[in-house]
Amino acid sequence: MSEIWAVSEQAGTILELIAHAKGISQGEKIVAFSFTQDGAQAASTHGAEHVYEMTEGSRPEAWVNKIIEMAKVAEPVAILCGNTRRAKEMAARIAAALDTGLVTECAKMERGEGFVTERYIYGGLCVSTEEMKSVPFMATMSAKLLEALPEGSVAPIEKITGAEEACRVIELRSHKTTSNLSAANVVVCVGRGVAQEKDIELAQRLAKKLGGEVGCTRPVAEDLNWMLEENYIGISGKIIKPIVYIGIGVSGQIQHVSGIRDSKIIIAIDKNENAPIFEAADYGLVGDLYEILPALLTALGA
Ligand SMILES: Cc1cc2nc3c(=O)[nH]c(=O)nc-3n(C[C@H](O)[C@H](O)[C@H](O)COP(=O)(O)OP(=O)(O)OC[C@H]3O[C@@H](n4cnc5c(N)ncnc54)[C@H](O)[C@@H]3O)c2cc1C
Repeated sequence: MSEIWAVSEQAGTILELIAHAKGISQGEKIVAFSFTQDGAQAASTHGAEHVYEMTEGSRPEAWVNKIIEMAKVAEPVAILCGNTRRAKEMAARIAAALDTGLVTECAKMERGEGFVTERYIYGGLCVSTEEMKSVPFMATMSAKLLEALPEGSVAPIEKITGAEEACRVIELRSHKTTSNLSAANVVVCVGRGVAQEKDIELAQRLAKKLGGEVGCTRPVAEDLNWMLEENYIGISGKIIKPIVYIGIGVSGQIQHVSGIRDSKIIIAIDKNENAPIFEAADYGLVGDLYEILPALLTALGA
């Protein structure tokens, strides 16, 4: 029986990939490849029909050669991966070895005679529709497009070996704190309107009080280097879908808004009443963040 593969190093993402796989399946078996035990267990009860658990080795990259070898034998019709930097690199290596194409940052996918995808280009200003002609179809899927399938019957989990460590991690050190933006229900986003690095503390207090996480715009991470690059939100960073997004001194350029537009409630604080963020926002506060935030924190008892 032919197969569609869902490959991810993240437990949440693998469930989303399985939902995508189900959406394009024409009777193919859905096979999940998880690099974590949690992901394998979740996949086995949320729509996968067979699960490979690949927990050997220090990094998911160690599995690329094994996945290529397995793909050459099983000949899946499609391989779907997550959209992290790591997943994109792994997907590119797998696609090159299988001599097939790869659509990255795919936002929509349909299957007719072939596979047709949509993705944002030019920083989110245009949508490009592409048709994949080579086999297997390969895509990295933007996050938070689909919900996980409901819990159902339990698929077998097969623990396999064969990781090849071309490079071994000796030590991991974080030089700045990182956020779990994809899973957060509340995200407080720091924009360039925040004047000094130490003032990020205001956003941290608000996020803590609301049980959320702090993210930022791209220049705050890339130009100012105040937060890690993995914490910036937008078309070229994290796509988020929290219940509440609060932008603080964020102008709301299209490249940023592309990453937040599926948030349930968007709240913006900006001193410029013409800032484009107010077009995307459900609630807007026009004013100086250095007056609004302290008042808000006091009112919340934070
Ligand atoms: C190809 C490409 C991809 C990109 N991808 C991304 C992406 O993924 N994510 C992303 O974020 N950006 C991205 N960008 C950059 C994007 O175009 C914007 O430059 C960026 O989002 C602006 O960040 P900002 O809102 O923090 O800063 P600014 O645009 O400078 O806005 C700062 C805001 O703060 C307000 N402000 C200033 N002081 C105060 C105050 N005291 N109180 C209240 N408000 C105040 C100002 O009125 C202003 O609206 C990309 C750009 C390109 C070209």
